[in-house]
Amino acid sequence: MTEENPKVDMEKIVSLCRRRGFIFPSSEIYGGLNSCWDYGPLGVELKRNVKDAWWRAIVRERDDVVGLDTSILMHPRVWEASGHLSNFTDPMVDCKVCRLRWRTDHLESDKCPSCGGELTESRQFNLMFKTFMGPVENEAGIVYLRPETAQGIFVNFQNVVNTTRKKLPFGIAQIGKAFRNEITTGNFIFRSREFEQMELEFFVKPGTDEKSFDYWLEQCLDWYVKLGINKEHLRLREHGKDELSHYSRRTVDIHYLFPMGWDELQGIANRGDFDLTQHAKFSGKELSYFDEETKEHFIPYIIEPSAGVDRSVLAFLCEAYAEEPPAAGVGGKPPAAGVGGKPDKDETRVVLRFHPALAPFKVAILPLSRRENLVKAAREVYADLRRQWMVSYDDAQSVGRRYRRQDEIGTPFCVTVDFQSLEDNQVTIRDRDSMNQIRIPIAELQKTLTAKLAGEDFLVLPPGGTVVEKKGG
Ligand code: ATP
Repeated sequence: MTEENPKVDMEKIVSLCRRRGFIFPSSEIYGGLNSCWDYGPLGVELKRNVKDAWWRAIVRERDDVVGLDTSILMHPRVWEASGHLSNFTDPMVDCKVCRLRWRTDHLESDKCPSCGGELTESRQFNLMFKTFMGPVENEAGIVYLRPETAQGIFVNFQNVVNTTRKKLPFGIAQIGKAFRNEITTGNFIFRSREFEQMELEFFVKPGTDEKSFDYWLEQCLDWYVKLGINKEHLRLREHGKDELSHYSRRTVDIHYLFPMGWDELQGIANRGDFDLTQHAKFSGKELSYFDEETKEHFIPYIIEPSAGVDRSVLAFLCEAYAEEPPAAGVGGKPPAAGVGGKPDKDETRVVLRFHPALAPFKVAILPLSRRENLVKAAREVYADLRRQWMVSYDDAQSVGRRYRRQDEIGTPFCVTVDFQSLEDNQVTIRDRDSMNQIRIPIAELQKTLTAKLAGEDFLVLPPGGTVVEKKGG
């Protein structure tokens, strides 16, 4: 794997996502809806875990950020003030022959990339979705689906200051849907027309903005790395002066090495006082901040880390994906005391090495057989653990096959309940990544899994535990 060589094909990711229920095309039975996607039973967990990890790092574990959840439909004047009505456009051309529409800045020649036909002159195309509020479909009723979550934060700035008494510097965070009528979509969930954003608007005193920008850039990079993204797969792209958005004093994008190449994962912008100044002007409301220490009124500057939930999900999926040759030993041995079926030794092992915080299931409970007394014991363990985590219960086919299924969806630990368990009250835990196995008392299970999920070395044993299988040693 080299820096310029993505480690996985997009097709493999798309196919795994479909096969195992992470992501489906929207309205699939009707042929799908272009570039809209549905998250399946595993995808919804993964996506929720990504959002939770972000919320935890940005809001819960900090004193200086509060959360918000604003409505998708906003007053139409918001989009005049923000500049979206006049500036939120992409240049586009149409093919005169096949009628396909292309983004001018994505074209490599002046012919249609699909049929080679002649193209129209470039025109600006607004990316906001329009709809109507109320029973009459006229100009007065036009509202827009928000193209970003940020504006909901700006227009609530004063509400938050008044109700929380937060002092600068402080931030307001929001996770929510955004809609863009993108001209060119594609690359799976990388660019869709309906997506989710995780945005932080961090309000600072002018003059401290550049330092704050650097701080947040570092924090954002750190977040991806802590959740398992290899640093080598991330890089920064500074926007040149000529490409800065109308509101931005500085923008740096964080790029990830996606299967189709390097592309934007998130942006960080120094928006200066543009947004609050504009909304104060358009609404006629005072949106400045009063600094009690210096007794000054001023408009704060805003540092904005803005990330896509779906793009993060895609990056985490690509990063986690691994294929191991059969020689690496597929599935591990059946549990020590077990009589379960043998794993298939001649198949490649596909494994999603998710960080435990992101894995849809943290643990899978595998009873060795469907014998009544074993099922009862396994169900008890299952009932106990699922109060704390998303836990899977799987009793179909051989244990080797079940390990394989859990590897493929990224479950960090499998707990096997076997006949010996009924006598010694112990179970076998198998580690997804090393495929090592330990056997420990059921009474220690919750504590042990908590420690392992938090990163404890798998072979560290609780009282009464033993190592059953250690690869390469
Ligand atoms: P791009 O240049 O890729 O169109 P952008 O620079 O317009 O993205 P921003 O307006 O900065 O994107 O939005 C912040 C983040 O929201 C992006 O970094 C991305 O993660 C996410 N995002 C934006 N547009 C889409 C989309 N159409 N589909 C999925 N995620 C998106």
